[in-house]
Amino acid sequence: MTHKTAGEKTALQSVGGNVFDEIYATDLRYWQDCWKLCGDAHCCSFSRYKARFQLIARTSFQELPLLPGEYEYLASKGWLSQFGDFDHKVFEFPLNPGRMRVESIISRRPHCACDHDTRPTICRLYPLLPVYDIDGALIGTDSLGVYEDLEALQGLEPACRLTSLPFSELQKFLKIASAIGRSALALFYIMAYRLTKEHVRARLMDAHRRGSGVDIFALFERKLLRGQLIDEDALASELRSLADSFQLRYGERFRLE
Ligand code: SF4
Ligand code: SF4
Repeated sequence: MTHKTAGEKTALQSVGGNVFDEIYATDLRYWQDCWKLCGDAHCCSFSRYKARFQLIARTSFQELPLLPGEYEYLASKGWLSQFGDFDHKVFEFPLNPGRMRVESIISRRPHCACDHDTRPTICRLYPLLPVYDIDGALIGTDSLGVYEDLEALQGLEPACRLTSLPFSELQKFLKIASAIGRSALALFYIMAYRLTKEHVRARLMDAHRRGSGVDIFALFERKLLRGQLIDEDALASELRSLADSFQLRYGERFRLE
């Protein structure tokens, strides 16, 4: 196994281990063996969409976004080896004052990136992203990833074939969602993730509308390579005002270093 850790090793902003204990003890699986529904365990690789790109994602890998402190939690449990050959990516986004540390695992493990029992939060939740108000109350769900946005914009049938949530699994979804909602930092990062996803989607929609008929995957790839997927100043200002609302609501319980 080889892996690289980018950036500082100690998380300056970290969600408490008790939150992760609760999440990792919850075996949310919307449907037993649901890979049989989509036919190719689509969410383990997204390979059918990656195959639409000309230049990016030519090698097989899976990127798994993490909550702040989740990497350290996985390390403390000895669960990082599940990712095989991986990098720990840390991207710092200045908000002035403060900054966000956006972390992910880039795993090159063939087929599935992780082991079922110790899979990260994102994999437990997929394909649903919980939507909250600022008090941490769950108010709905959204699709979780950027590929779902691309397929919707392109007018494709959803690759993920999960269409219903059995009652027993609903309780587990609520348990994970509530663990996240009780941590101001986890809540902020989940809401910031959705805000960023919306920002990218709105820019893609706008460009798609102007270049009628253009393939949305080609457009996404072009904008990614040109660094045009986000408008950094506009996104920073949206995230800053989200952080300000959190500061007002949570005071000392919320701090971006
Ligand atoms: S894409 Fe959807 S249906 Fe397929 S394995 Fe993932 S969660 Fe299950
Ligand atoms: S949890 Fe891991 S093994 Fe399961 S679908 Fe996600 S990437 Fe694949």
